[in-house]
Amino acid sequence: MLPLSKTLSRYAEDFIEDAHLERLTSPGTLVDVGRFREVIAKALDKQALAVEEAAVLVCARDPEMREEVFAAARDLKQRVYGNRIVLFAPLYLGNLCVNNCAYCGFQRKNKDMVRRTLGMDEIRQQVAAMEDQGHKRLIVVFGEHPRYDADFIASCIRDIYDVHNGHGEIRRVNVNAAPFDHAGFRTIKTAGIGTYQIFMETYHHKTYARVHPAGTPKSDYLWRLDALSRAYEEGQDDVGIGALFGLADWRFDVLGLVSHAVFLKDRYGCGPHTISFPRLRPASGMAPAAKNLVSDEDFKFLVAVLRLAVPYTGLILTARETAELRRAAMELGVSQIDAGSCIELGGYTEQTCGQRMEREQFTLGDTRPLDTVIRELTQQGHVPSFCTACYRLGRTGEHFMEFAIPGFIKRFCTPNALTTFMEYLVDYASPETAQAGLAQVQVELDKLEDSPMKQQLIERLARIRQTSERDMVF
Ligand code: SAM
Ligand code: SF4
Repeated sequence: MLPLSKTLSRYAEDFIEDAHLERLTSPGTLVDVGRFREVIAKALDKQALAVEEAAVLVCARDPEMREEVFAAARDLKQRVYGNRIVLFAPLYLGNLCVNNCAYCGFQRKNKDMVRRTLGMDEIRQQVAAMEDQGHKRLIVVFGEHPRYDADFIASCIRDIYDVHNGHGEIRRVNVNAAPFDHAGFRTIKTAGIGTYQIFMETYHHKTYARVHPAGTPKSDYLWRLDALSRAYEEGQDDVGIGALFGLADWRFDVLGLVSHAVFLKDRYGCGPHTISFPRLRPASGMAPAAKNLVSDEDFKFLVAVLRLAVPYTGLILTARETAELRRAAMELGVSQIDAGSCIELGGYTEQTCGQRMEREQFTLGDTRPLDTVIRELTQQGHVPSFCTACYRLGRTGEHFMEFAIPGFIKRFCTPNALTTFMEYLVDYASPETAQAGLAQVQVELDKLEDSPMKQQLIERLARIRQTSERDMVF
């Protein structure tokens, strides 16, 4: 393992000005109704919002204005993404950590945590178990530790892609790990990762310093903020940003996320592929401080504001949230969720009943099996998708942004959603879910206008049901 080079990206800068974002979100800010409507109209026209425009939405406190934000978010979500929901699951591979993040069960000083790093055979067993559930997309998650360098992570990823189990295979491995240097990003890119995801946790400098003690690697704000710029410079242009809500004022961090998305788009020509907005959960060795916890109502509102601010960026909602909240937030713009998730190390084969907090990073709100979640999605008119086409066909980064224009999603994403959903229904679903799912596929087919693509899709769906042919990508 080579020591990490602390060379920042070429044009590294700390583009978060706390005073400016605090001014934009100050409680006394009055929102002008005319301006508010202009911003809503711009968002509905599928244009990304500037930070100051997103601030107009985020500061709306009047219930009727908030209702307008919700309605616009629902409308935009339908028009840009349709009713697809992409499914994935996390796979924790190692919880050693040199940091002491105040909110995290893995923090170094938490002596109750059972520390573990999965070996190659254990990884294979976990992946096979996940494939048996029907998963095709994973995100691998690590603590920050010298052992988990880019070579180690790249070799885990290669092992995962190697596991084939009946019709089961993992077609996309995303990564959530501590920031790499340039060489590290090159290494993980060559292992064929999907999205590289890193959460800033909070963009608010003072809060960041408070929860990441000085002297730990993660206390270096700019090194973390700059990580995705280094990723872009190494060709890893499929990236995800995120903030952990509950640390600083939520309005501030919404604007932090929008600032980050705008910065990447301006500097590198394409914004992030996804935004995550985890909410702080209880964890071993910590009790969430009450001050900045986000209520369910504000949380749904922030999802709606993000939907409007970045129309072409996927929004990820995790199983930290309860089933009930996930149902509501999905309508407001979420495009990806995890399901059937188990965050205990080795848990996909070893966990028998409930969460064991001394082995997990935090508590989950939705621990239902994948099959149950898929059935519910289907019954509510969503189309569950395991599609992995774009990154495998090179449709990422700038190219993806070009494609993410009206029509693209319907032409490619809908048929890919339906074929991957059909694979799930034929290979893994319970009889009840299969029945509900097949009916849903028919409803979706009926909505499509006649075209050569529709004919091709119908043929492919029949081939999946009748043969062992799989992975037919549009
Ligand atoms: N260790 C790496 C890092 O910090 O960048 C990888 C990420 S960590 C394993 C995954 C994410 O979980 C963190 O970035 C943080 O946002 C989130 N997280 C940590 N503690 C949490 C808690 N108590 N509740 C909810 N999310 C939490
Ligand atoms: Fe370690 Fe990441 Fe947890 Fe911080 S958030 S203690 S870096 S695992």
